[in-house]
Amino acid sequence: MPPDTDDMRRDVWVAMWRGLRCRCPRCGEAWLFHHYLEQVDRCPVCGEPLAGYKVGLFLPLIVVTLVMFVIAVIMLAMELAGHGNPLVYLYVLVPASVVVLLAILPSSKGALIGLFWAKDLSDVLDR
Ligand SMILES: [Zn+2]
Repeated sequence: MPPDTDDMRRDVWVAMWRGLRCRCPRCGEAWLFHHYLEQVDRCPVCGEPLAGYKVGLFLPLIVVTLVMFVIAVIMLAMELAGHGNPLVYLYVLVPASVVVLLAILPSSKGALIGLFWAKDLSDVLDR
């Protein structure tokens, strides 16, 4: 089997940047999702099969860890500044964390799909 020249050109950061922008990791032109988090099976521009790149539970692990880290830093800064209030945490930070989490989910999934595509971590065996 001859070496696939396309695999040699798979730059991780370029693929993740394109995925972060919710674009195809190969061409960067077409949308990666046709619904909120439902990825396309194949890129309509370059024809790259993308259905095999499943991020699974790695996505919530990354996103929840990132959001909780930011919330913890904000809470620590508020406590150190003397403005710590449990009601502020409950009524502002909890809804804000849910909104931020939902807002960054597609971009995070795109970046992970870009990473998996660049590392060729597809669950399809016959590629
Ligand atoms: Zn494409």
